[in-house]
Amino acid sequence: MTKLSVAIVGAGMGGLATAAALHRAGIGVNVYEQASKFTRLGAGIQIGCNAMKVLRGLGLEPLMRASAFYPRSWNNREYDTGEVRFDMIFGEQAEQRYGAPYLLGHRGDLHAALASAVPAEAIHLDHRVVDIEQNPDRSVKLAFANGSAVEADAVVASDGVHSFVRDQLFGGDDANFTGRIAYRTVFPAALLNVYAIGDCTKWWGPDRHIVIYYVKPDRSEVYFVTSQPEPGFTVESWSAMGDVNELRTAYDDFHPEVRHVLAACPAVHKWALFDRDPQTNWSQGNITLLGDACHPMTPYMAQARRWRSKMPPCCRAA
Ligand SMILES: Cc1cc2nc3c(=O)[nH]c(=O)nc-3n(C[C@H](O)[C@H](O)[C@H](O)COP(=O)(O)OP(=O)(O)OC[C@H]3O[C@@H](n4cnc5c(N)ncnc54)[C@H](O)[C@@H]3O)c2cc1C
Repeated sequence: MTKLSVAIVGAGMGGLATAAALHRAGIGVNVYEQASKFTRLGAGIQIGCNAMKVLRGLGLEPLMRASAFYPRSWNNREYDTGEVRFDMIFGEQAEQRYGAPYLLGHRGDLHAALASAVPAEAIHLDHRVVDIEQNPDRSVKLAFANGSAVEADAVVASDGVHSFVRDQLFGGDDANFTGRIAYRTVFPAALLNVYAIGDCTKWWGPDRHIVIYYVKPDRSEVYFVTSQPEPGFTVESWSAMGDVNELRTAYDDFHPEVRHVLAACPAVHKWALFDRDPQTNWSQGNITLLGDACHPMTPYMAQARRWRSKMPPCCRAA
């Protein structure tokens, strides 16, 4: 019997995590990524206790504990008065309850950890998929913009919110622009000039919010991400820059702690927020979709769309 071969399209979080898991299971895996190199994106990422159990299964828990921040809580405060609305306790209490830590990390550290769990020779950069075809024997052929082509027994398409494979399989309806944008950045905490901020705080305004947290165990780097209405801006890119002064103005009625962080940050990225309606089918033959290619959600929906109905109205709008 020949070894099962799986081709993965896209080396984002979903593609690399899948590749690492399949590799550990002894399945032959190759990842095809359009980018010519990996860049360390200036963004944070919450790694929930359930996600940490996956990373534990991939042997990456020590790496993530050493590189990410272990917050005491996720605090939720009123945007102007700073009144605490609810403080979700994490730290050791959550770790005991859920059997794994809740961490706040740098997206680049998580990406690098996942990449380290996949053999280097299985990651093929500069391979943008431009055609996908199922053969009569159910094997799948992928063709790339660089002129090469491969065949695999199955394909997992984790090529993001504007998935080429999804369009090929199920038709090309556009992702929904939510009318909201996010500013985000990671910067050295030294720029705060010894001003003390919370471990992790979400500041809730009437139509906008900002989440601020550390992403390093020694509190040396701070991350924030906002969400606010801006119907005219639809650029969805990890590299597009925003105007830091416009951002400061948009939050000038927020609490002094927020204004201090925004005054200290040297530059920001700007990102239009998209989602998609749920799809009934994720797979066709031996091709399946995964991650944002399949079910993208806005960052503030985090892990549970069904939580939405339980949230206060201001959270649902944000
Ligand atoms: C501002 C923001 C904050 C977020 N914060 C969190 C958070 O704290 N916690 C959390 O769990 N989630 C968070 N999310 C959501 C999370 O980032 C995404 O769900 C996740 O990155 C999706 O991973 P993915 O692998 O499916 O897609 P992506 O990470 O988008 O990766 C897709 C990959 O496919 C490649 N690709 C695309 N087309 C092709 C092609 N034709 N051929 C080859 N390669 C291709 C791309 O270059 C890319 O590398 C956030 C999202 C945003 C926008």
